Amino acid sequence: MATHDSTGATGTTTQLSPEALDGVLAPLAASLGDRLLTPSAATFAETAALFVGGPARTPAAVARVRTTDEVVEALAIARDAGLPLAVRSGGHHQARHGLVDGGLVLDLRLLDGIDIDAAAGVGHAQGGVVAGAYTAAAGAHGLATGFGDTGSVGVGGITLGGGIGYLSRHDGLTVDNLLGAEVVLADGRVVRADADENPDLFWALRGGGGNFGVVTRLDLRLRELGTVTGGMMMWVPTPATLAAVLRAFAEGPDEFAGMVNVMVAPPVPMIPAELHGKPIIMALLCHSGTAAEADEVFAPLRALGTVLDSVQEMPYPAMFEGAGGPPPGGMGDARTGFLGQGAWAPDEAWAAEVIETVSQAAGPAAVNIRAMGGAIGLVDPAATAFAHRDPAFMVTVGKFAPAVEALPAASEWVESAAQAFGISGRGYVNFMGTATEQDVRNAYPEATLARLREVKRAYDPQNTFGYIGTSEAVSGP
Ligand SMILES: Cc1cc2nc3c(=O)[nH]c(=O)nc-3n(C[C@H](O)[C@H](O)[C@H](O)COP(=O)(O)OP(=O)(O)OC[C@H]3O[C@@H](n4cnc5c(N)ncnc54)[C@H](O)[C@@H]3O)c2cc1C
Repeated sequence: MATHDSTGATGTTTQLSPEALDGVLAPLAASLGDRLLTPSAATFAETAALFVGGPARTPAAVARVRTTDEVVEALAIARDAGLPLAVRSGGHHQARHGLVDGGLVLDLRLLDGIDIDAAAGVGHAQGGVVAGAYTAAAGAHGLATGFGDTGSVGVGGITLGGGIGYLSRHDGLTVDNLLGAEVVLADGRVVRADADENPDLFWALRGGGGNFGVVTRLDLRLRELGTVTGGMMMWVPTPATLAAVLRAFAEGPDEFAGMVNVMVAPPVPMIPAELHGKPIIMALLCHSGTAAEADEVFAPLRALGTVLDSVQEMPYPAMFEGAGGPPPGGMGDARTGFLGQGAWAPDEAWAAEVIETVSQAAGPAAVNIRAMGGAIGLVDPAATAFAHRDPAFMVTVGKFAPAVEALPAASEWVESAAQAFGISGRGYVNFMGTATEQDVRNAYPEATLARLREVKRAYDPQNTFGYIGTSEAVSGP
């Protein structure tokens, strides 16, 4: 099967007979032992599962690599045999790039070393580390690097796509704090990418996703951070309340960050029973300044009449503890886009449309609104492959599907909601529910895409690393 991707690279993958496949994988089985899992292994399904569910995809094998040398070896075997390859770390991407039918999954989760160099202010994370583990390790030194809001998300995936979270308005995106990386390229070379070595690759890694190689180590800038004031607030949704919450971000300091969900309350114990099944505004909030400054910011939000308020002073790593996010295995579709610039905030009419759309949805749906601005917008859009620097808010609409058959209806719903909310046309690669050519064009402005294509041609001309490139919409001769 020939593959073609929107960055212009082409490659060829092969369907092998079971006997031929055994022969191809034999050297890897010898090296990895029971860390090479084929579908007959008792733990195969559990190991291959991603956080996000979806239509069945069955890889030929999962290689649970533990060292850079093992990455090089597994990669060579897949490449030389023309086996489709997928790379996974935390397994959270909604478009499920981390699984590939009939191919080899390079599972990085055992490549999970963390080294916090407090004196140098640099955290080193191997390619399979998750955000919660890194944040806890850095927190033990009173230090932090900003990721998102969920501890089980892979540092590899979130960083390569951008990384928007609790510290972004103050410190920039995760990519703005990436100082360098060790990368295994498609041809097996192990290279460093930073401002001095392979700067074009370094640029592409900061937003271009898993298109260019296997990142076996990320070097991340640390900042001092002990406690924050954070947690959850919830309100009964009215247009005035939603607009006021969003305005608080627009007018608030860069230390104040978080995300606001308009959703139907699930029947979980932490939410008052009388709200179950009803629309709510649920915000996860974090203020990284002093407790007194935080209280000032949170007072007007409390004055809106919260029905739940768990916001309190806590060590920063505590923000990443607990389950976080929806339960694993759920499926659905999502569209993401951006709104406004500078201190702009949506008005009550927009808020009313959001509340009405979520309330009327058949089955669980959510609109997730994240404040951008601050340090994110201070970076030149051309400086990294993440180029959407100016928006005030990022908005994601998501619709859950109880079964595969319900996915088309979920896609239709998110498409129409995205149009209604005015967020179509641009997107964040880490929140793409699908990976069509249009999604890719939404994620990267034309100039960025052209530059990504150049880097792709230089570092992965055979498209060994499919990532956003092997979707149905962009595959072909
Ligand atoms: C519950 C939940 C909460 C989230 N919260 C946030 C948030 O607050 N902020 C935010 O910005 N994003 C957030 N995301 C989105 C998240 O950043 C993306 O889904 C990201 O791709 C997840 O990374 P992962 O390593 O867990 O996923 P994976 O599915 O393992 O990785 C996605 C792809 O990235 C590439 N990749 C990953 N690691 C490597 C590596 N080491 N080397 C080479 N390629 C690699 C591979 O192509 C892989 O298939 C969230 C997602 C979920 C499901």
